[in-house]
Amino acid sequence: MYCQECGSKAPENAKFCPECGRKMPNLLMEDRPKRVFTVQTALKDYFQGAIGLTKFREAIRKGQIPHMRIGTRIIIREEALDKWMEGQEKQSIAPISKTLQVK
Ligand SMILES: [Zn+2]
Repeated sequence: MYCQECGSKAPENAKFCPECGRKMPNLLMEDRPKRVFTVQTALKDYFQGAIGLTKFREAIRKGQIPHMRIGTRIIIREEALDKWMEGQEKQSIAPISKTLQVK
């Protein structure tokens, strides 16, 4: 991998050029614009079929996922989906008090 700025060679996983300190292309990819989904595209592109339409609509209806309504269309930001997923993951972890109760 070569630095786009100064052309010097950098390790493959480097985030910054060792010569000039510029961001390397693989880091720039992380700066891609955040996406916006509809219900349909979220199921297909974000969850990739991991959850179904009924479950997803239920979560939206219960107010678990921040979204906006434009006419009949529901718009959801990628960040909102990330946060919802994080919240679900946290719920799956036992509280520390429980993990300490070893019998
Ligand atoms: Zn450089």
